[in-house]
Amino acid sequence: MKDNTAVIGEINGLLGSSPRKAYVRSFGCQLNVSDGEKIQGLLRKMGYTFTEDEHKADLIILNTCAVRENAEDRVFGIVGSMKKLKELRPSLIIGIAGCMTAQSHVAEKIKKSYPQVDFVMGTSALSALPKLLLEALRGGGFTADIAEYDDFSEAAEQVRSSSFKASVPIMFGCNNFCTYCIVPYVRGRERSRRPGDIIAEVRQLVSEGYKEIMLLGQNVNSYGNDLGGEMSFPQLLRELNRIEGDFWIRFMSSHPKDASEELIDAIFDCEKAAKHLHLPVQSGSTDVLARMNRCYTVDDYLKIVDCIRSRDPDFSLTTDLIVGFPDETDEDFRATLDIVKKVKYDNIYSFIYSKRSGTKAAEMTDGTSEEEKGIRMRKLLEVQREISTEHYKRFIGRTMRVLVDDVSKKKEGWLTGKSSEFIIVEFEGDSSLIGQFVNVEITGAMNWAVTGKIAERNALK
Ligand code: SF4
Repeated sequence: MKDNTAVIGEINGLLGSSPRKAYVRSFGCQLNVSDGEKIQGLLRKMGYTFTEDEHKADLIILNTCAVRENAEDRVFGIVGSMKKLKELRPSLIIGIAGCMTAQSHVAEKIKKSYPQVDFVMGTSALSALPKLLLEALRGGGFTADIAEYDDFSEAAEQVRSSSFKASVPIMFGCNNFCTYCIVPYVRGRERSRRPGDIIAEVRQLVSEGYKEIMLLGQNVNSYGNDLGGEMSFPQLLRELNRIEGDFWIRFMSSHPKDASEELIDAIFDCEKAAKHLHLPVQSGSTDVLARMNRCYTVDDYLKIVDCIRSRDPDFSLTTDLIVGFPDETDEDFRATLDIVKKVKYDNIYSFIYSKRSGTKAAEMTDGTSEEEKGIRMRKLLEVQREISTEHYKRFIGRTMRVLVDDVSKKKEGWLTGKSSEFIIVEFEGDSSLIGQFVNVEITGAMNWAVTGKIAERNALK
């Protein structure tokens, strides 16, 4: 981590006692949201407070996502609309961060076409924020820093959006180069954080009362591959499980090629590890998986599922699926429906393939029409809806431990939370329970949630 003390001192000197408000908006995945919290942590050191209203901000930072091209277009639209804000208030500073700006052509485009933007910084250059901000405050013109400093992974304070759920990035970047994905190009190669720093951070969060720790990485279960044998991901899970306290450990995203038996052993041995694994399969066709460069076959994947379900037939699995990958045939798609029926996921996160320039898949031929892709998507969702409705019934009559998230948006006087299995649970209760574990007797099942009533509190683990 860069020592920014002197630069922060200069900013504070320049702004004096004048109040300063920042609007920070993060797009995309949880890792990006976590980066946004770190940006806020740095800004807090510079005396900024935060606003949800960009019209009231002295500083706007958009923390962007590059995974889908239409998400990029949306951000350009938002940046364009900020021209007016800048005209009304020339002292407003606008910075663009995140995966989009890690691509040099995007940084160039912003410099050329969006004069309202003061600076851009890449995902590995977040610690350059004070320097970039100081330049902007001095009126030094457009600046960009998209270098890979790789120095932001440790000791970065976060302004956390929840007081009971915390995400902890444990590694950055990805080595996998799935052919549809831009991430390895914008977030660089895998770098694991030091185990001692992660353990200390989690211990601190638990001591502050956090009830759920989400370990994050683009490929979280390859954690430690670059640490020369110092610690693997299953070992890290076991270490974190030893921390005293009442909390759950979750992690995402896992790559099936790195889902070893050692990992499954650790999940089942660690009582604090959630009874849920998000294991993105992406397609049920081995041919498509090969074209995606996923490095596993359908059989490999099903072996992992068997290994898990042989220990607990009810263990919760969720997945990601891409529908309409270039030249996906009817047969390939039927294979996807087959795997969904076979595995019985509790939930799926499915997307119609969208071309991402800069990736290998963007150069592949694609004979499947958009209309056909839409039909396939609807069919997949219909199949999953039937599975969820049926599969969620297995919880009826059981008591589930639930971490209460919020009041329910569906029914007044009700609360919503998630069980260890990552199932949405809705039940009647008082909002004072938000952020607490409660035991809920399950009485009903829908295709998106189960419902129940509060049982004896905190008797179950
Ligand atoms: S594992 Fe594949 S999909 Fe996930 S971030 Fe890496 S390249 Fe992208």
